[in-house]
Amino acid sequence: MKVYKFGGASVRSAEGIRNIARIVSGVNDNLFIVVSAMGKTTNAMEVVLDSFMKADHAGAIQKLVEVENYHREIIAELFVDKTVGETAVEPLFAELEKYIIEGIGDDYDRCYDRLVSYGELFSTCIVSAFLAESGSTNCWLDMRSLIVTDSNFREANVRMNDSQVRLKKAVDFTQNKIYIGQGFIGANIKGDPTTLGREGSDYTAAVVGNLLDAESVTIWKDVPGILNADPRIFENTVHIPELTYLDAVELAYSGAQIIHPKTIKPLENKQIPLYVRPFGSPSEAGSVIKATTEKPIDVPVLILRKNQVLVTIRPRDFSFVLEESLSKAFAVMNKHRLKVSLIQSSAISISVCVDNNRYLSGALDELGNDFKVNYNDSLELLTIRGINDDIVQKTTSGRTILLSQRTRRSGRFLMKEN
Ligand code: ASP
Ligand code: MG
Repeated sequence: MKVYKFGGASVRSAEGIRNIARIVSGVNDNLFIVVSAMGKTTNAMEVVLDSFMKADHAGAIQKLVEVENYHREIIAELFVDKTVGETAVEPLFAELEKYIIEGIGDDYDRCYDRLVSYGELFSTCIVSAFLAESGSTNCWLDMRSLIVTDSNFREANVRMNDSQVRLKKAVDFTQNKIYIGQGFIGANIKGDPTTLGREGSDYTAAVVGNLLDAESVTIWKDVPGILNADPRIFENTVHIPELTYLDAVELAYSGAQIIHPKTIKPLENKQIPLYVRPFGSPSEAGSVIKATTEKPIDVPVLILRKNQVLVTIRPRDFSFVLEESLSKAFAVMNKHRLKVSLIQSSAISISVCVDNNRYLSGALDELGNDFKVNYNDSLELLTIRGINDDIVQKTTSGRTILLSQRTRRSGRFLMKEN
């Protein structure tokens, strides 16, 4: 069997969903299809949540209706008989409206997962109904009952063994050749919905591939494959046809937006190849990530991570930071979910580069209990793999560099935003 994942951009319009149906109808293998929420629905659901958390039930409903209407417009354009699509999705709209009117916004992260996960439920119901209407019989699955996670709401970790038992019970290719489930969402053991972190649908596809021993996992994207840099930021980008798992995990971790960083491990562990293929031109090969490649990457790879903060901490009692307080500092950062993308230390201070997110101020406050804390924000972190002086010159000249690290093969430059 194979796993196909279609992201938000692929399902943002009726035309995109028709394209999925075309791609799927050409597949002879058994298929597990993972789908994200449509277009920018997850962002829109976050706005609904904000009103809900402020107990502004009317405002939340009004914003939800906008989301619903967006889905209804797609249904009206997509189906021969639009009641087929509406019948699939209206019960979910009703269920969520009831929750929004009656529910209480207590814990932000828990409510986030309960509410925002509907984006994927809406999209999969519509895609499943449309595939069926267009002749690809399939079975829709609610991944909240199949992907078992811990209770780390908004960034839940998958419990592989429990999930495998449930998934194997639910998926039987002698009964159905095509299964379709939501990316990004699961539930803890009590059944409370959880999500796996923004852009987490790639990760779901990899987890499903691992648990069902897929022959391959394919992520269909609105790009020609993996490039050596983001073409929206850098000029003269080139296509990389093959990457190793190691290349891919380093790129994703450095902030290359092509795949979610957690995607690689479940695939590497079972040596399952990951294809990244262009949704708009399905006959093209795209890129493949696998254990070994014939051709090592021979161009510098550039990854720019924006909205970074450099945090420098120093123990208040002048003790050596690496000996006394490293684990404490990291425990605090971990608790506040800060993603550390670079570390540098001296005798009595340690500097880390982290994403600027809503957890940052809480972490800085808590670090302030034991450390003297300084920080600089509005920074960007450029990572270059396959470094040479020429590319360093081209990408960093004239820039204010706050910190740099260089090895033989790679370099990292933390700079003021342009
Ligand atoms: N819909 C979720 C998001 O936008 C997950 C995903 O698309 O991968 O983050
Ligand atoms: Mg996406």
